[in-house]
Amino acid sequence: MALRNCVRCGRLTDGRLGSLCPQCQREDAEAFEAVVDYLRDHPEANLMEVSQATGVDADHIRRFLREGRLELVGDPDALQCERCGASISTGRLCSDCTRAMEQAAAAQTRPPVESRPSESPARFHLGRHWLEERRERYRR
Ligand SMILES: [Zn+2]
Ligand SMILES: [Zn+2]
Repeated sequence: MALRNCVRCGRLTDGRLGSLCPQCQREDAEAFEAVVDYLRDHPEANLMEVSQATGVDADHIRRFLREGRLELVGDPDALQCERCGASISTGRLCSDCTRAMEQAAAAQTRPPVESRPSESPARFHLGRHWLEERRERYRR
């Protein structure tokens, strides 16, 4: 079993629970639940209010937001788009940048014309064959 260091406390962990050791994983889950609980009752709360009320570090809450696990609608300053700096309530990018990144990714994965497999001639061949067959049938 490969041991790795917990990304939060640095303790060695077997990595079964991802990048956190079991203790940090538990603390993370408890913190997340506390924040979610608080936001359920105070959906418009800002980052500092949530942090003070739950005792969860503001950076920790911000990480939940970055991971897209939480949304903080009441605090436009809590999180900024990593690309353009616009205020966002969850995730890493604003909706405009998300769309732009998706389009860029789509353009990159589309194979360039010259490297496309040579299926067009085969298809043409097949089409001609099919046409000739039909013509034969009409002739009869
Ligand atoms: Zn840990
Ligand atoms: Zn953006």
